[in-house]
Amino acid sequence: MNIRVLDVLEETMADGPGLRTSIYCAGCLHHCPGCHNPQSWAMDGGTERSVDELLELIKSDEFSNVSFSGGDPFYQVEAFTELARRIKEETSKTIWCWTGFTLEEIQADPHLAQLLPYLDVLVDGPFVMALRDTELHFRGSSNQRIIYLKGQPDDTIPGTVKIIPFK
Ligand code: SF4
Repeated sequence: MNIRVLDVLEETMADGPGLRTSIYCAGCLHHCPGCHNPQSWAMDGGTERSVDELLELIKSDEFSNVSFSGGDPFYQVEAFTELARRIKEETSKTIWCWTGFTLEEIQADPHLAQLLPYLDVLVDGPFVMALRDTELHFRGSSNQRIIYLKGQPDDTIPGTVKIIPFK
């Protein structure tokens, strides 16, 4: 199974707490006005990389956790679910995932919801220019939420953090 990938950043500190391997996927249909990365919108952008290849890259870094961003990973939900499932089976790494969908929209759609059980944190919702706030950590507008899907947060994130245990 393949994922259309724009870029992979290793040992980045920009996408969640601590060191992370960040996978930036291609494709986003939300088209939020003011999007910081409109070049990521094309669904046929980037290059195809296999789940096996991405998993080996992630596993080769003993210390970094993992982030999925884009684009919107939920437009390639089957392949990201496969990757996330194998990360959870084969490593102890945490996974943060950014999406333009809200958690409620994802939970209402079984196809999208297949990825949720493997994520530790979902940063959800579209970017809303009227709610833009440059003081926020790891998100661009105040409607977006950092949602811990598993238990209690083990990272201290300054700012508003909404905690919703996943059931
Ligand atoms: S969801 Fe993210 S990548 Fe997609 S249009 Fe909105 S801000 Fe841009």
